[in-house]
Amino acid sequence: MSILAEEAASLLDLRLSAAQIQQFHQLSELLLDWNQRINLTSIQDPAAIAVKHYLDSLTVAKVIPHFDGQRLIDVGAGAGFPGLALAIAFPRLRVTLLDATAKKLRFIDQAGQALGLENIRPLHIRAEDAGRHPGHRGAYDIVTARAVAKMPILMEYTLPLAKRGGQVIAMQGSRANEETRRAAKAITTLGGEVSAIEEIRLPTLDQPRYLVVIDKIKRTPTRYPRQAGVPTRQPIQ
Ligand code: SAM
Repeated sequence: MSILAEEAASLLDLRLSAAQIQQFHQLSELLLDWNQRINLTSIQDPAAIAVKHYLDSLTVAKVIPHFDGQRLIDVGAGAGFPGLALAIAFPRLRVTLLDATAKKLRFIDQAGQALGLENIRPLHIRAEDAGRHPGHRGAYDIVTARAVAKMPILMEYTLPLAKRGGQVIAMQGSRANEETRRAAKAITTLGGEVSAIEEIRLPTLDQPRYLVVIDKIKRTPTRYPRQAGVPTRQPIQ
């Protein structure tokens, strides 16, 4: 875990305490234990987990001005990335972890209890349904997503959840620029505007990663998001 502490400090100017490093260590143990029963991650090596899951998740901090009391929702959180890692690193951030798969949320819930995290809330719902729900629509300062869907679809999952003045942060691989261009119509239709595409270089990885930051500048029209499954079948393009 020392690589995590060192790189978080040098790459992100983020000082993790010994207690937080211990929480990440405990999370790795839980992740590998649960992974024997349910498919949570293909990454088995603790050093690789530290870089590809934890450090990658924490790079979101590069594009967020502050983490004090803000509401963040991680859409398609899976085993909890980036949301769970952000909740450990920023205890004053209020993190909702949304996923359509109940067993993944059971892991997040159990891990949160074992680690004593008081700032997380697992949410079992499809993103399209959350986007139409009055308690979630337009309710979040920050919406994150990693490895959930192609950008035009992802925009329909995420932008309705952001409040005006809030941001969607889409964590992307090497095709980020092209993917973002393809999502241009979806972004404007849903009330967003791309404000930055930040390149991230992680230790031990050859390929750069990208954070695509989309500002929510207008309210999402009421007809979006469409019924669950429709964004995948008919992406806005
Ligand atoms: N974000 C995690 C990560 O990067 O490790 C998990 C990525 S996993 C490949 C994609 C997750 O998105 C799955 O857990 C899946 O259940 C969830 N997902 C996909 N479409 C969804 C939707 N429409 N609503 C809610 N969750 C969804």
